[in-house]
Amino acid sequence: LREDNLRDPTVFALIDRERQRQFEGLELIASENFTSSAVREAVGSVLTNKYAEGYPGKRWYGGCEVVDEVERLAIERAKELFGAAWANVQPHSGSSANLAVYFALLQKGDKVLGMNLSHGGHLTHGSPVNFSGLNYEVISYQVNEQTELLDMNEVRSLALEHRPKLIIAGASAYSRTIDFAAFRAIADEVGAYLMADIAHIAGLVAAGLHPSPVPHAHVVTSTTHKTLRGPRSGIIFSSDPEIGAKIDRMVFPGTQGGPLEHVIAGKAVALFEALQPSFKVYGAQVIKNAQALAVAFQERGYRIVSGGTDNHLLVLDLRPQGLNGTKATKLLDAAHITISKSTLPYDTEKILHGGGIRIGTPAVTTRGMIESDMSLIADLIDRTLRGEDAQLIREEVRAFTSRFPLP
Ligand code: PLP
Repeated sequence: LREDNLRDPTVFALIDRERQRQFEGLELIASENFTSSAVREAVGSVLTNKYAEGYPGKRWYGGCEVVDEVERLAIERAKELFGAAWANVQPHSGSSANLAVYFALLQKGDKVLGMNLSHGGHLTHGSPVNFSGLNYEVISYQVNEQTELLDMNEVRSLALEHRPKLIIAGASAYSRTIDFAAFRAIADEVGAYLMADIAHIAGLVAAGLHPSPVPHAHVVTSTTHKTLRGPRSGIIFSSDPEIGAKIDRMVFPGTQGGPLEHVIAGKAVALFEALQPSFKVYGAQVIKNAQALAVAFQERGYRIVSGGTDNHLLVLDLRPQGLNGTKATKLLDAAHITISKSTLPYDTEKILHGGGIRIGTPAVTTRGMIESDMSLIADLIDRTLRGEDAQLIREEVRAFTSRFPLP
């Protein structure tokens, strides 16, 4: 029995509030974006009703002929966009994608070499509180203390010393180009697998604006909701179908049950959008905006980790301003400017607070902002951090963002 008119007023009021918050605020979280209405329509579709354990053509459930086509389409588009020979579009998230790769390539207790979380790595790259650090022996590489850039000599010497079975290249808060070929040379020297986690830069890789890891890494994992501008989810691809077959088994049945076919449809739609020429223009604008923002902050006396950015994000060191990440996030939240706090390489602040903030341009670029808007954004942030009245700044933010429609 079902009441067709029953529509939970509480949840829909909250969704309306969230829509308003997204419209009025300035969204600068480097890992967020605004999906198209087409992506949201697919994710909110009747495909959510369908069980489809298994893979296209090999399901445990009947009635999968339509979702089989949806999933095949998503796989083919992922392969085309990233130039891969194999793809799995079922991971529920970036973390699930990484979990499946660990399970496929490693035994419990094997050694993994990944980037230190405080230097820009991700929880799943070996943090002691995550499955990666709990089940594997983790060695972490850091950025160089002077340049704040990845130091391939250090990665190599750690690899030679510890002989890891898996090396991870990729980060959550690193603003510079990653040399995947150099990582592969080190992996080959020590007989390790190389996994590239491009969760943050996937959209830039797809647009040809960051070198692709696909020719170099044994396996590439990603989220689909950051620069790639798809639904909140994960994806894995490889140029080696034999490795792919092992990973397929560890996505299902290894670590997941029924795939979210509605989200897979959302991924297929996002991949279709990313295959259009306009996505290259978008990606280029994301980078131009991040670079313009970096210059605008430097002009206002801020120190940017590594001195700038090659991609969609920058990390500001706020210790010279007498602030930390927690304090800055609170001040900016009050002005409806949304960022995330960040630890810094060789941070002197407690990890809980972090010495800085991470700022990204994927979402504001989707709204249509360009380089000339970045100095106003830097100005709003600077004035908020200097303690100007958050209420007044909030009004300025609202007036500014009202000029840029949400998709
Ligand atoms: N890998 C990297 C590099 C990330 O930045 C993230 C997300 O922040 C993930 C993996 C995990 O993605 P999810 O939050 O979808 O589990």
